[in-house]
Amino acid sequence: MNDDFITMTIGKQKNIALIAHDGKKAEMVGWCEANKEILKGHFLSGTGTTARMITEATGLPVRGYNSGPLGGDQQIGAKIVEGKIDFVVFFSDPFAAQPHDPDVKALLRIAQVYDIPMANNKATADFLLHSSLMEEEYDHNIINFNKKIKERAENLK
Ligand code: PGA
Repeated sequence: MNDDFITMTIGKQKNIALIAHDGKKAEMVGWCEANKEILKGHFLSGTGTTARMITEATGLPVRGYNSGPLGGDQQIGAKIVEGKIDFVVFFSDPFAAQPHDPDVKALLRIAQVYDIPMANNKATADFLLHSSLMEEEYDHNIINFNKKIKERAENLK
């Protein structure tokens, strides 16, 4: 592997962000309830309302960021950039326009850039959570941003 990429490791215990649009919140709470035994072995966070509803219904500790329309998706995106969130379950609503659609798109994009496992519906979330990789460390290759910055700073002079 050349130095265009750096290897990052997703640990055995994942840092999972949970997000659900309003039309999908009940589904998210039900999914967390059904998968409580697995989820309690990981570190959970989520957008404000989603996090609160999950904790109230299941007792799982979920660190709450701001509500999605108030920047919660952007906070989670920033944590992905910092390497503090490495797994996302995002039940977006395909039938409702969102005031924070640009933030949602930004989160999807940054999860792609950082090669983060991300489920955007229940079936994908089930397959992801029941993967044998949930109990293992996982190495993935991320663009070497330090090198990129150095090269760009050089080339744009
Ligand atoms: P919420 O945010 O959990 O605070 O509702 C999620 C969203 O709608 O993006």
